[in-house]
Amino acid sequence: MGNSIVNTRDQRFVLYEQIGIDKLFTTDKYSGFSRDMVDMVLTEAEKFAVEMLLPAYDIADKQDPATFKDGKVHAPVCFQEPYRRYCEAGWIGPAVPVELGGQGLPMSVFAACLELFGAANYAFQMYPGLTLGAASMIATHGTPEQVQKYALKMFSGEWSGTMCLTEPGAGSDVGASRTSARKLPDGTYSITGTKCFISSGDHDLTRQIVHPVLARIEGDPPGTKGISIFIVPKYRVEADGSLGKANDVVASNIEHKMGIKGSATCTLNFGENGACTGELLGNEREGIKIMFQMMNEARFGTGMQGLDFASAAFEHAVQYAKERIQSKKIEDFTNPAAESVAIINHADIRRSLLWMKAHVEGMRAMNYFIAYCIDQEHCAATEEEKERAKGFVDLLTPICKAYCTDRGVEICSLGMDVFGGYGYCSEYPMEQYVRDVKIATIYEGTNYIQSLDFVGRKLGQNKGKNIMNLFGEITKIIQSAKSVEALSSYAVHLENAMNSTIALTMRLGQWAKSLDYIIPVMNARPLLMIVGDVVIGWKLFEAAIIAQEKLAALYARLGVNEAQGRALAKDNSEVAFYQGKLANARYFASNVLPTIDGRCACIGLTDKTPVEMAEESFSV
Ligand SMILES: Cc1cc2nc3c(=O)[nH]c(=O)nc-3n(C[C@H](O)[C@H](O)[C@H](O)COP(=O)(O)OP(=O)(O)OC[C@H]3O[C@@H](n4cnc5c(N)ncnc54)[C@H](O)[C@@H]3O)c2cc1C
Repeated sequence: MGNSIVNTRDQRFVLYEQIGIDKLFTTDKYSGFSRDMVDMVLTEAEKFAVEMLLPAYDIADKQDPATFKDGKVHAPVCFQEPYRRYCEAGWIGPAVPVELGGQGLPMSVFAACLELFGAANYAFQMYPGLTLGAASMIATHGTPEQVQKYALKMFSGEWSGTMCLTEPGAGSDVGASRTSARKLPDGTYSITGTKCFISSGDHDLTRQIVHPVLARIEGDPPGTKGISIFIVPKYRVEADGSLGKANDVVASNIEHKMGIKGSATCTLNFGENGACTGELLGNEREGIKIMFQMMNEARFGTGMQGLDFASAAFEHAVQYAKERIQSKKIEDFTNPAAESVAIINHADIRRSLLWMKAHVEGMRAMNYFIAYCIDQEHCAATEEEKERAKGFVDLLTPICKAYCTDRGVEICSLGMDVFGGYGYCSEYPMEQYVRDVKIATIYEGTNYIQSLDFVGRKLGQNKGKNIMNLFGEITKIIQSAKSVEALSSYAVHLENAMNSTIALTMRLGQWAKSLDYIIPVMNARPLLMIVGDVVIGWKLFEAAIIAQEKLAALYARLGVNEAQGRALAKDNSEVAFYQGKLANARYFASNVLPTIDGRCACIGLTDKTPVEMAEESFSV
C-alpha cells in the first residue's frame, strides 16, 4: 500500500480472497509456489515499478522521447538503465516455462506485476512486452532450432521483438497485406514490403531485434488465408548464434504521436535492396492462425493498459481530492464564516471517485480472472475444466481489450476533471495519462474490430456454451447476493441487467439466422459494452459478498455491531477496505446496471438510420 499508481491491497484481495490462487499451489504445475513467494514477487515488482520505471515516465514524455536521428532510432536514454535492470532481474520471463529459461509463475500473478509496470511507465513496458509476446509465439510454433536461435535470447532480454502486421493499405483489414515472400534455394524466404506503425520496430535498447512479419508467398491466394508468417531478424544470425551482417530491414522514420512518446513507433522497409531474408514460422499460409497467439496475448496486454492508466489516474485523483481545498460544504453554503473544505467532501467529486473506483476494481478482478483462466488451461484436473477455462479466455479477451480501454479513457478524463485546471497542465500527470491511454482503444485491432469479433465469433463460439457458462457463473453470484441482507435489494439490478442481456443475445441469433446482419454489425460496440458492464457487475458483487463476510468477522472480533462498525472505517484500514467493496457493488448496481435495460431496448428498436441515410447528409 501507499504507492501513487496501484492499490496493492486490492491486488492481493483479488488474487487471494476473490480468485483464491492458493488453489493453484496444490496442482503439479504450480506446486513450487506459495503465498509467501507470490507476496515477495509482488513486493519486488512494486519496488521496481516505483523506483526504476516511474521516475522515467514523465521524462520520456517531455524531455527524452524516442527519436529518429541520422537514420537511426533511439529509445529514450532514460530507458537504458531500467531496461538493463529489468532484464537482469528476469522480469521478461517470470511466467515463461522453466525449460525456456523462465520461472513458471502463474499468469494471474504476472498480470498483477504487469499492472504495476504498466501503471508506472507503459511506454517502457511496450519494449519487453512485445518481446515476450514474439518470443512466446516462436516458442510455441517454431522448430527446436528456431526456439534455440531466437526465443531463448528474447526471453532473457538480450534480443527484443516486435509484431509486424500493419501496412499503409492494410490496417484493420490485415488480409489486404502486400508484403511478399519468395522462397530461396536454401529454404529461407526473400521478404519485400513496408510495415508501418511498428512499436519498438527499431531502437537501441538491444542490438538485435526479431520481427515476426506477415507476408504473402508469391502465388498464394488473396485475403487472410494466403498469409504466412516469417521470422525476420534485424541482423542475420551466424551458425554459432552471433550476429552477422544487417538484414536489409530499415527504419525510415518514427511517428510523432499524441502519447506514449517513449515508445518508438516505426515505419520499416523490408528488402529495399533485395537482401532481406526470413525464416518461415510454422507452415505456409498459417500466418494469421499463428499470429493470433501473439495478438490474443497483446489484446489482453492492451486491456491491461486500460486498467493500468485507470488505476494510476484514480489513485492520483483520490489523493488530490483529499488535499485540494476548495468551496464550502453544501450545508454551509450560506454561512460566510464557514471554512472551505477538501474537495473530497463534495458530492459530485465523491460520485466521480466512486464511479472510477468501482470500474477500476471491477476491471482488475475481471482481468486477473482471465489470467487465472489461462493458468487453469494449463493445470486444471480435467479436460472439461480446461476447456471451460479456455472458453472464458476466448470470450472475455475482446471484452478485456475494448471495455477496459474505453473505460480507461473515460476514467483518465474524469480524473482530470477532479484535478480541475491543474489536471490540464503538464506539471501534474493527468494530462499525460489522458494522452497515453487513448491509443489503447485503437491499436491491437480497434475497439470496433474487437466488438465485431465478440459479436460475430465469440458469442456463438462452442455452440454458445461459453457465454452460457458465463451467465451460469453470474447467476450463482446473484443467488448468493440475494441471501446477503446488505446486498439483496441491489442484486435485483444485476439480475435484471443479465436477463435483458440474455434476451438481446437471443435476438442476435435470430437476426443472424434471418441474415439481417446490419443490427448486430452496427451495434457491436454498444453490445460489447453492455456485456462488459454485466461482467463488471458480477465481479463487484462477488467481491462484495466476500467483503460482507470479512466485515462480519472483523466486527465480531472488535466487539461492535454493524452500525458501530461503519464508524470504524476512519481508523481501521481493513474495515475501510471492505466497506469500499460494498460501496462498489451498491453504487454500480444503482447507477450503471439499470441503464442496461434501456441500452438493450435501444438496440431492440432496430433503428437503421445511420446506414440508411445518404452519405451526403452527414455533412454538406
Ligand atoms: C502508436 C501505435 C502503435 C502501433 N503498433 C503496432 C504494432 O506494433 N504492430 C502493428 O502491426 N501495428 C501497430 N499499430 C497499428 C494499429 O494496429 C492500427 O492503426 C489499427 O489496427 C487500425 O488500423 P488503421 O490505422 O489502418 O485504421 P483503419 O483500419 O483505416 O480504421 C479506421 C477506422 O475504420 C474502422 N473500420 C475499419 N474497418 C471497418 C469495418 N469493416 N467495419 C467498421 N469499421 C471499420 C476502424 O474501426 C477505425 O475506426 C500501431 C498503431 C499506433 C498508432
